[in-house]
Amino acid sequence: MTARILVVDDVAANVKLLEVRLLAEYFEVLTASNGLDALEICENGKVDVVLLDVMMPDMDGFEVCRRLKTDPATAHLPVVMITALDQASDRIRGLQAGADDFLTKPVNDLQLMTRVKSLVRLKSLTDELRLRAATTRNIGIEELLSRKLVLDEVCPKVLVIDDKEVSGQRIAAMLRGSADVEAVTDPHAGFFQAADGGFECVLVSTGLSQYDPLRLCSQLRSIDRTRFLPIILVAGEGEEERVVRGLELGVNDFVVRPVDQQELTARLRTQIKRKRYNEQLRASVTETIEMAVTDGLTGLHNRRYLDSHLQTLFDRAVSRRRPLSLMITDIDRFKSINDRFGHDGGDLVLREFARRLRKNVRGIDLACRYGGEEFVVVMPDTEQKIAEKVAERIRAEIAGTPFDVGGAEPQTVTVSVGVSAIRRGPDSVADLLKRADIALYEAKNNGRNRVVAKAA
Ligand code: GH3
Ligand code: MG
Ligand code: MG
Repeated sequence: MTARILVVDDVAANVKLLEVRLLAEYFEVLTASNGLDALEICENGKVDVVLLDVMMPDMDGFEVCRRLKTDPATAHLPVVMITALDQASDRIRGLQAGADDFLTKPVNDLQLMTRVKSLVRLKSLTDELRLRAATTRNIGIEELLSRKLVLDEVCPKVLVIDDKEVSGQRIAAMLRGSADVEAVTDPHAGFFQAADGGFECVLVSTGLSQYDPLRLCSQLRSIDRTRFLPIILVAGEGEEERVVRGLELGVNDFVVRPVDQQELTARLRTQIKRKRYNEQLRASVTETIEMAVTDGLTGLHNRRYLDSHLQTLFDRAVSRRRPLSLMITDIDRFKSINDRFGHDGGDLVLREFARRLRKNVRGIDLACRYGGEEFVVVMPDTEQKIAEKVAERIRAEIAGTPFDVGGAEPQTVTVSVGVSAIRRGPDSVADLLKRADIALYEAKNNGRNRVVAKAA
């Protein structure tokens, strides 16, 4: 994971210190010694995380953060405020200014890296979503992004696993207001509760006396239902080694006792955001893929999907010496439906036609809208004789029940169908389609509302 980190501090030695540590982890580092320079660098883009000193002359860190967070061009940049030790009031001001996380001076290496990596991951997700929103003229994405605003407001359900009841309750109390918290003292029960779902983050205390907390974390990582559930370790002081092992096992972040409320809520918020963005991204990828291969009007597969899959089905049939048939259907005199009942009336017919088509084919058959009022059904493992029967059944069902055209009397609609099947000897997808097309042409010429099969 490489990313560009901007370090802002008026003291050159502090900048150098952070820069050296970040470079050692192969991050790219930009530096600024005052707020105005920092803002300018951020506006020019290409920054992934900002590490921001609070105490600076002229413009302090709070003001820099506030400006970054109110400018739409930079509002998505994660900002980590670097505060002096034990300055709880600074953290509260930082949160009010929109900071995403905190580090205290002197900056601890492990905390620095964990924080930066965690925020870099979050940033790459938001970048991906922003990019998709910008490049896809896609209703799905726009809708997802607008849904996001609502999502950010949903109070997260969080599970705290700590066998010391008092300490679990203390953490629960800290999160009251920012999360809906359940605390359990039995690690086994906690594991099953986490797996039961509904939680968006689990906090695991490293102080479990009867159970290895890291084993619990690795178990959470190993089952499907909790694989992507964020885990925050609540560690004791001096437990760095254990934390490092936890992070290697897939723990997402940690806080150190005595737990600071502002830090904990900031860290929790980052994890929740990341989980939600991740889910959105996954959903939008799936949705985009589905949209690319689905016909919007009828919900059937579209021609693109047919083009990419027919060859596969064809090859499989040939290599296994199995039959495969195909039909092309074309609605008769469809133009006149549009002419008499408008395009909307025509669309109603197409939708209903697709519904009846789908109803009459098997799950393994591939039904697609080929274009306009033409549909193709590919039938694996089906001899031509059987395919003819299926086609005839569809023809009868279309002609048998009039179609709603919106408002006016339901109208009788008919369809012509051409059927073809893979033949012995040399054959190809193009020829198979062509034979069905010729058969369809014959059906039209012979008076429509009929099925014609092309002898192999
Ligand atoms: P034939 O019996 O010879 O097939 O006559 P036809 O009128 O069905 O044939 P033609 O190909 O001339 O007309 C097809 C019509 O389908 C023309 C086009 O406007 C209409 N059409 C294509 N796509 C859509 C669509 O998505 N919605 C609607 N309502 N009409 C469409
Ligand atoms: Mg046509
Ligand atoms: Mg037609």
